[in-house]
Amino acid sequence: MDNKYQEYESFFIFRSDEELEQHVSQCSDCASVHDEMKKVSALIQEVKPYYKKRKNQFKIMKVACALLLFIFCGTTVGVMTNTDITDTLTYGQVLSAEDLGLPVDSYGLIMVE
Ligand SMILES: [Zn+2]
Repeated sequence: MDNKYQEYESFFIFRSDEELEQHVSQCSDCASVHDEMKKVSALIQEVKPYYKKRKNQFKIMKVACALLLFIFCGTTVGVMTNTDITDTLTYGQVLSAEDLGLPVDSYGLIMVE
């Protein structure tokens, strides 16, 4: 770290605001460091609202993802545990017209009136 930064740092940490201001008005090295600090501070103040906004959007996204996952899992478990569906639809089985609830005759053909 540069010597001028160390001097400014010692004033900033160990002295009062009045002593710091007084020294900055007399010492050109510390005045330049003080200006840099002001610029950084202003930059942080300028960026702060954007950062907070992004943080809030992230929270909303997290809630949305959790809800979506909850709905997806609920539907999947609902289908898996629904015996009406799993009993009727097994691999390789073909549904007949009667299974589909259509009116059929004794040959299994659809009746048309
Ligand atoms: Zn100084």
